Amino acid sequence: MPRPILATVHTQALRHNLSRARAAAPDARVWAVVKANAYGHGIARTFESLRGADGFALLDLDEAKALRDLGWRGPILLLEGVFEQRDLELCSRLDLWHTVHCEQQIDMLSQHKTNVPQRVFLKMNSGMNRLGFAPHSYRSAWTRLNALPQVDEISLMAHFSDADGGKGIAQQMKVFQQYTQDLPGERSLSNSAAILRHGGGAEVRADWVRAGIALYGSAPDFGQHDAVDWGLQPAMSLSTKIIGTQDLVAGDSVGYGSCFMAEGAMRIGVAACGYADGYPRLCPTGTPILVNGVRTRTLGRVSMDMLGVDLTPLQRAGVSAGFGSEVTLWGRARNGAVLSIDEVAHSAGTIGYELMCALAARVPVSAD
Ligand SMILES: *Cc1c(COP(=O)(O)O)cnc(C)c1O
Repeated sequence: MPRPILATVHTQALRHNLSRARAAAPDARVWAVVKANAYGHGIARTFESLRGADGFALLDLDEAKALRDLGWRGPILLLEGVFEQRDLELCSRLDLWHTVHCEQQIDMLSQHKTNVPQRVFLKMNSGMNRLGFAPHSYRSAWTRLNALPQVDEISLMAHFSDADGGKGIAQQMKVFQQYTQDLPGERSLSNSAAILRHGGGAEVRADWVRAGIALYGSAPDFGQHDAVDWGLQPAMSLSTKIIGTQDLVAGDSVGYGSCFMAEGAMRIGVAACGYADGYPRLCPTGTPILVNGVRTRTLGRVSMDMLGVDLTPLQRAGVSAGFGSEVTLWGRARNGAVLSIDEVAHSAGTIGYELMCALAARVPVSAD
């Protein structure tokens, strides 16, 4: 029998979350961002649920090919554009739209042999200083692109660094608008945080929004809002079972480094999940976890294949919590209780994105 660990992708939740993103940006077209194998959920597994989007955005050419192989004929956008000259041939073959964020990509386009001009998204660096043309060189990049026979329509794009936080988007909006005012073309600016928090402004929603994390049911601004606040449902549950129990007395410790020490008699369970499954080792004692759908806490250091859980609240509730009990690391338990991935991520000092993307290859995944 395989280890009892299992990740479940909830296709209905993906559909629901996509409709939430649409509702928050009613007049915009929605890119479903499926980079990083759909944030760890699997491109093929999520495709049917997300095909109601207007297009798919991703980075990896193999993932673009996978979408075409699944039968998607609508728009696909390469968010980082091409990496080398021959990628443009694949863009032509698969009809991919691509981001242009630097002069080298324009050079490559100018060398590209094609009879079918390509749709490009010209990216401005409006303050994040990751990818894109500086505002003052944006217009000349646009002019250069516009003169190329290889280029069809040019859309305008930027990305917010602080849509989820206190700094907000005002400054970057101002820069973008100032330097694009009289340029034609569709606009795409907003990620999930901008859609949910700032989507009230039509200029923020623009023509296309790029919804990523919201589709997967995680709050982009956890700490200020959780997934329930935003009406999002978890798209992934990670579950396992208790494969051992121990009865401790005062002074007994749990796991490597003896990081947790019992103050009195207590019963603990050992769950079949560890950092080699993608559960963060940085989750300290006290990280929330569900056993039989009842909220309890982890104990001691997370090992490679196992972690300790406190069974005290389960005994009190009179629930059988011994060998074989259901453990929910994040997501939905069988009794309907939900533990948000954001809460677990927060315990590890990170964000839900990282946990879903880090689900290990050894974990079997099913869809419901
Ligand atoms: C990943 C990404 C997004 C989606 O961001 P979320 O925070 O997951 O909604 C949008 N735009 C770009 C350019 C991205 O790289």
